[in-house]
Amino acid sequence: EKHLSDRVNNMSTSATLAMAAKARELKSQGKDIIGLSLGEPDFTIPEFIKDAAIEAIRDDIHAYPPVDGYAELKNAIIKKFKRDNHLSYEPSQIVVSTGAKQSLANITMVMLNPGDEVILPAPYWVSYSDLVKLAEGVPVEISTTIETNFKITPQQLEAAITPKTKLVMYSSPCNPSGSVYSKDELRALADVLKKHPNIYVVSDEIYEHINFGNEHFSMAQFEDMYDRTIVVNGVSKAFSMTGWRIGYIGAPTWIAKACNKIQGQITSGANAIAQMATIVALEASPNEIQYMVEAFKNRRALILDLLSEIPGMKTNTPEGAFYVFPDISSFFGKTIRGKKIDNAGDFSLLLLEEALVATVTGEAFGDPNCIRLSYAASEQEIREAIKRIKEVLG
Ligand code: PLP
Repeated sequence: EKHLSDRVNNMSTSATLAMAAKARELKSQGKDIIGLSLGEPDFTIPEFIKDAAIEAIRDDIHAYPPVDGYAELKNAIIKKFKRDNHLSYEPSQIVVSTGAKQSLANITMVMLNPGDEVILPAPYWVSYSDLVKLAEGVPVEISTTIETNFKITPQQLEAAITPKTKLVMYSSPCNPSGSVYSKDELRALADVLKKHPNIYVVSDEIYEHINFGNEHFSMAQFEDMYDRTIVVNGVSKAFSMTGWRIGYIGAPTWIAKACNKIQGQITSGANAIAQMATIVALEASPNEIQYMVEAFKNRRALILDLLSEIPGMKTNTPEGAFYVFPDISSFFGKTIRGKKIDNAGDFSLLLLEEALVATVTGEAFGDPNCIRLSYAASEQEIREAIKRIKEVLG
């Protein structure tokens, strides 16, 4: 390891993937693990999307696609932005990537110089801080609590800004908290940013459709923020296409061009077959996936109901995505089944080893008081998991 670069040695392993690996290991030892750690819908891909992929293979789609995506897919993305977000883009403003994760990696690499600061409202998605560090930027976290539904205030944003601030990066609906910023809340944040014209916003909207009633609003919809906002989206969550690896951005042309340039040296264009399938996914009405959203909504009600029966587990009502993010700090300092609980990592490990339920520690998301439970699992699994957790904590 000493011969590896500082870049990789200073990097943390994705905690969600690490937990999944640990759970898999216990499973292979014959342990009956229930996985509530992964951010992955448990539905299959709708048939019409699969058909489009099969057709693309039969049509001999095999050549390298354009680095920034097929023109036809870019048009479908432009229409989607118009239909769902009232946003207008030209093809030169769209870049298709190998998952939204690559979109985010492109953005940090093209926007950051060493020492540039990126404001991350915490809790934030697990990879943001390491992507920033990889680009030699400096993550600046703003802490929130469950009492404010894990949302930052304009005052907090103002206080975090320095002459070095380059980006503000967040997801709404949020992974891990499920919080959704309303139009008014975003406007208040935009009013702060208005005073700082050199700061850009990365608005990760990958959970856009998994929203239980609030209107989805994008920072880019404010006229005065459009030229300063990079919208990130993809098909992993809405269409259950996690393994197909398609994400995309809508951005100012000069930023999109730079992303295209860097992607051209690293991966080239995203998988051709998956791109062809994404066209039909995006062209379909959001009603086509409403059944998944309804199922997530029912599971949210179920898991909140069950968790409310566990003393010491403080929850709020997440408004979107498919996670609950309870504050479990009341357990700190206690010893449960012979294990001392000093932090959220200890707590998450206790649940894995004693309840055989995989969760993720909030530390990975910049919140040391919480753990994340994904309810992208069957109702039966959710019931059994929470029953076991209750027994261990009981
Ligand atoms: N952004 C957020 C907030 C996520 O939760 C995820 C996936 O977990 C991603 C981006 C990455 O998505 P993709 O599968 O498109 O790379």
